Amino acid sequence: MKTIAVIGAGTMGNGIAHVFAQHNFTVHLIDISETALEKGLATIAKNLDRMLAKEKITEAEKATTLQNITTFTSMENGVKNVDLVVEAATENVDLKLKIFTQLDEICDAKTILATNTSSISITQIAAATKRPEQVIGMHFMNPVPMMKLVEIIRGYNTTDEITQTIMQLSEQLHKVPVEVNDYPGFVANRILMPMINESIETLYNGVAGVSEIDTVMKLGMAHPMGPLQLADFIGLDVCLSILNVMYDGFKNPKYAPCPLLVNMVMAGKLGVKSGEGFYDYSESRKAENVAKQFA
Ligand code: NAD
Repeated sequence: MKTIAVIGAGTMGNGIAHVFAQHNFTVHLIDISETALEKGLATIAKNLDRMLAKEKITEAEKATTLQNITTFTSMENGVKNVDLVVEAATENVDLKLKIFTQLDEICDAKTILATNTSSISITQIAAATKRPEQVIGMHFMNPVPMMKLVEIIRGYNTTDEITQTIMQLSEQLHKVPVEVNDYPGFVANRILMPMINESIETLYNGVAGVSEIDTVMKLGMAHPMGPLQLADFIGLDVCLSILNVMYDGFKNPKYAPCPLLVNMVMAGKLGVKSGEGFYDYSESRKAENVAKQFA
């Protein structure tokens, strides 16, 4: 594997591009939005500067990492002659099905198609292609340059060979891959989202306040961040959408999103990205401070 296309230059896409480029892969970073590409590259440069300041990389490594990335607004040009595509576009089933149908038509027959989806079925995405055995989930965690885990999700038809290739590739990135099967929420969100939902339910039932709930989980369970603060960081809309995928997928009421979560999303309180969620981020410093906890 030498050349990787990353589709989407948002929160996850720029992090994925950063990690591949830092490990000497040639990266084609693709987004429909020129602004998103500019922002994505600026974020990568800022994160590299932070690593440089901490003496984790050298000035030369920073320069090489940036040189390894080329941006594209056309998917057709960006995915030509690549060994792997990692799709990290907006979490929307119809969009992902459309992207994978197009990828299947444009990409070389040997190109492996991976998705970073948090919750959409890999098997469903793979079924949009004529190469379902070469489609796999490569679920990086946010922020990608810092987090060690990659959840490797096998679709119903994904072969052992493709799974092993992607596991080994993740190790080349100095990540720890964990192989899981394709059921709603995979492993990470299947366990995390009910905990977040239960924390919201605890708040909704008036058992305790926001900071009390987070403090119990931080100091009592040694979580680096309380579940309500984590929900703000992930995005309450994203949490709601993942819970709905699990609720629909399992038809089990234990995954039903708390009405308070539904209300907050309808009211536009999405967490850090909207300036308010369980905490107030209206002063920009507060949002920065949350992000710094991960730096
Ligand atoms: P984001 O909104 O920050 O970025 C999505 C990007 O995709 C945007 O820049 C948008 O312009 C671009 N895009 C939309 N349609 C496109 C297309 N047709 N072609 C190319 N680019 C297109 O989203 P994100 O948070 O980076 O999430 C991306 C994926 O990663 C989603 O599937 C999400 O579920 C998953 N994910 C997110 C997180 C997280 O914490 N944010 C964690 C793990 C996985």
